[in-house]
Amino acid sequence: MFEKILIANRGEIALRVIRACREMGIASVAVHSTADADAMHVRMADEAICIGPPPSPQSYLSFPAIISACEVTGAQAIHPGYGFLSENASFVQVVEDHGLTFIGPRAEHIRVMGDKITAKDTMKALGVPCVPGSEGGVPDLETAQKLGAEIGYPVIVKATAGGGGRGMKVAHTAEEMERAFQTARSEAKNAFGNDEVYIEKYLTTPRHIEIQVFGDGKGNAVHLGERDCSLQRRHQKVLEEAPGPVITPAERAEIGKVCADAVARINYAGAGTIEFLYEKGEFYFIEMNTRLQVEHPVTEAVFGVDLVREQIRVAEGLPLSFTQEDLQISGHAIEVRINAEKIPEFAPRPGRISQYHAPGGLGVRMDSALFNGYVVPPYYDSLIGKLIVHGRDRPEALARLARALGELIVDGIDTSIPLFHDLLAEPDIQTGNYTIHWLESWLKERY
Ligand code: ADP
Repeated sequence: MFEKILIANRGEIALRVIRACREMGIASVAVHSTADADAMHVRMADEAICIGPPPSPQSYLSFPAIISACEVTGAQAIHPGYGFLSENASFVQVVEDHGLTFIGPRAEHIRVMGDKITAKDTMKALGVPCVPGSEGGVPDLETAQKLGAEIGYPVIVKATAGGGGRGMKVAHTAEEMERAFQTARSEAKNAFGNDEVYIEKYLTTPRHIEIQVFGDGKGNAVHLGERDCSLQRRHQKVLEEAPGPVITPAERAEIGKVCADAVARINYAGAGTIEFLYEKGEFYFIEMNTRLQVEHPVTEAVFGVDLVREQIRVAEGLPLSFTQEDLQISGHAIEVRINAEKIPEFAPRPGRISQYHAPGGLGVRMDSALFNGYVVPPYYDSLIGKLIVHGRDRPEALARLARALGELIVDGIDTSIPLFHDLLAEPDIQTGNYTIHWLESWLKERY
């Protein structure tokens, strides 16, 4: 059993992991850059250690700095949170080479799923339905145009190394292909140092539905239903809910079993998310994330489980603490992402928080590392909090969200809070009638 875990992350997710450690009687080590010396994760952990200057390549992404921090503090395992090193297969290898445990899947699974082409091939072979598209990478424009005609426009050109919505371009017609292909390639080259792209049918009215899976690394796995993350801007999630407003229990059981069986067959260890587009009753695999997701709390709320605790247990070699039959959905949960951003431009707004007050009451969870006087640094992503509500059903969750947003105070900087007040007034949000394109067209009309 672990006595001490190092958390290679910052912000709300570092707190999330520290909290799980404390409840399990495990000591926690926070790491921080010089920009985060006063941060809440540093204050809340049992120990803290500075690992470098503000830019993440020299601190939160530095292998030697993080491994040394483990050696200095005697931490036996590393929890990567999400982002940073959470999906870096080379890092996992280095961690293991130092006799430490990485709390997450094995390097080989991270590597296979980190390349979207090998991920799709693997999933297809495991019986998971995929979006129709190219067989592997598309080497040149000529092939791209040929495939466009075969698959039928619109199509989307995507970077195999993609993430965070980058390196994706839609071509609605044959004429648009040249530009889409070249732009996706150069974006991919710049962002990921790998210009390989592939092509998929572009679905015009899908929802983004993702299945939470959990494996014990020994051939057993369960699913924890779906999250609907269709409310997106520039392919980035803004609001997530569980269960999905349009998914039936039969659909959930069917796709959930396909996903759980797939990860069981590859001996997957820990938490994973299999992402689909869902249109006209059909699921189409797009990618798998081999880590804890930002939006995991909505799943925790409706299933009454602690996914971080489960990750730690599996990393210790323990069996899953629940069976598929144990996992029953109760009520409805919604999460909104509070960002330090000015709406409607979504421009980052770091700065000093003059007043912070978290909402509370029945069915309200606020995951945030904010405090009065905290200065949001400009170096990292703009997520400053997640407000999660849980109700007996969707209408109750929506009413609770409106109530909790009314209590939440974040003064001193611009945030995305006003966006959610406006969204909740929309009939389509109230009824759950939205696709992945709804938010962007609403933003255009509204602001
Ligand atoms: P990333 O890894 O960059 O997040 P994903 O493959 O997960 O990229 O896709 C992110 C989002 O892009 C999806 O949730 C969806 O909104 C959109 N998208 C991706 N593939 C398609 C497709 N074939 N058709 C329509 N939209 C797509």
